[in-house]
Amino acid sequence: MSKKIAIVGGGIIGLAVAYKLSMLKSVGSVTVYEKEKNVGQHQSGRNSGVLHCGLYYKPGSLKSLLSVQGIREMISFCQEYDIPHDICGKVVVATTDQEEKSLETLAGRGDKNGLQGLKYLSSDELKQREPYVKAKKALLVPEEGIVDYKKVMLKLVDLIKENGGRILTDTKIEKIQTSNANEVVINTGNQEETYDYLISCAGLYSDHSYKKLTHETSPLKIIPFRGEYLMFKPEMNHMVNHLVYPVPDAKYPFLGVHFTRLMGGEREVGPNAVFAFKREGYNTFSFSSKEAFESLTYKGLLKFFKNNFVFSMGELKSSVASSAFIAKAKKMIPEVNADMFVKGNAGVRAQAISPSGELIMDFNIIRKDRQVHVLNAPSPGATASLAIASYIIDQYLKELK
Ligand SMILES: Cc1cc2nc3c(=O)[nH]c(=O)nc-3n(C[C@H](O)[C@H](O)[C@H](O)COP(=O)(O)OP(=O)(O)OC[C@H]3O[C@@H](n4cnc5c(N)ncnc54)[C@H](O)[C@@H]3O)c2cc1C
Repeated sequence: MSKKIAIVGGGIIGLAVAYKLSMLKSVGSVTVYEKEKNVGQHQSGRNSGVLHCGLYYKPGSLKSLLSVQGIREMISFCQEYDIPHDICGKVVVATTDQEEKSLETLAGRGDKNGLQGLKYLSSDELKQREPYVKAKKALLVPEEGIVDYKKVMLKLVDLIKENGGRILTDTKIEKIQTSNANEVVINTGNQEETYDYLISCAGLYSDHSYKKLTHETSPLKIIPFRGEYLMFKPEMNHMVNHLVYPVPDAKYPFLGVHFTRLMGGEREVGPNAVFAFKREGYNTFSFSSKEAFESLTYKGLLKFFKNNFVFSMGELKSSVASSAFIAKAKKMIPEVNADMFVKGNAGVRAQAISPSGELIMDFNIIRKDRQVHVLNAPSPGATASLAIASYIIDQYLKELK
């Protein structure tokens, strides 16, 4: 008998899962529930728009596997459906001796992860590609690029609908029941529907969603980290040609303030990684007493602050003082200054933290009875979304294949 499936969350991962499920013969119908009026209003519509190819991730991790598969699949998807994208390449810039060593480690990881065309640039080559960048050593990552993930999501919505699926926006899933036949019963106030499976892709609320839907405490806690951007004034766009990234600190999943090109031709710099007092709080002063209390009484976050005081304060400073933000950018392009920028967008990362204060680096997905929960899907979750969807079906929903 064909199966009915509910997806919680209309971000890029929920939509990718819905799209892939809607193509299976065993699946009769797919319904995406999204609490906002439109899909993609949170992380998926507020990111750097970069197609990451797996340079940073520990070989053998889920992130390394799914980002390498994911970028290839995302590019084929964009080619097939005419979604504008640009494989403009990335330059990773080491500015100190320590970073130079770390860059070599990164290049080694990239090789192990199967990246192609990695190459150190000579100073002449760097000057030709990025005349304003100052580096001790620079690594070219030619496979990376940019895409407008909002356009990817709109295409996924079209395809889901063409395959007979439904997208119910403005519809928040607060709780579910389980029928005698062990099916999932969703009640949205005016309507009750029964499903064979539920997949939760709730992003910043993945832990809340786990608790509400399974009636058990989530094994991971989401802590929101806001990422703010500055936008180059149009007359300054010539200062950046590729994606220009620093060598990240391997202790953190955040890649550091970087320069990116957007599909419209704009250039931005960011994001920092500031603890946010509200999960969907996009301004410096966004505040939710309930959510702030929940985060600040979590022992994992308190341990994180204790062990990473300098990092946390540095990021906070970069949120309230633009000079601190620009200082991060100046490390790679010394000529940038405050007059060259206007305020840009902001996004909030859903970052899982363990009770011992570790930031969980890898993707985390678990199945519980008839439910699958995507608990941690930070960057490069957008790049990897189609591969994450296939992985969920292959690993957790084998019976549907
Ligand atoms: C600042 C920033 C920069 C990033 N840069 C990149 C990048 O360059 N490249 C890259 O690959 N990745 C990047 N990422 C990561 C990427 O954006 C995420 O991994 C990805 O978007 C996660 O998708 P998602 O669908 O899980 O989450 P989301 O996009 O957050 O979607 C979750 C959805 O669930 C909905 N929802 C939650 N609870 C409920 C409920 N109870 N009922 C109904 N709906 C609900 C929410 O409204 C939301 O729409 C970045 C992220 C940020 C924040």
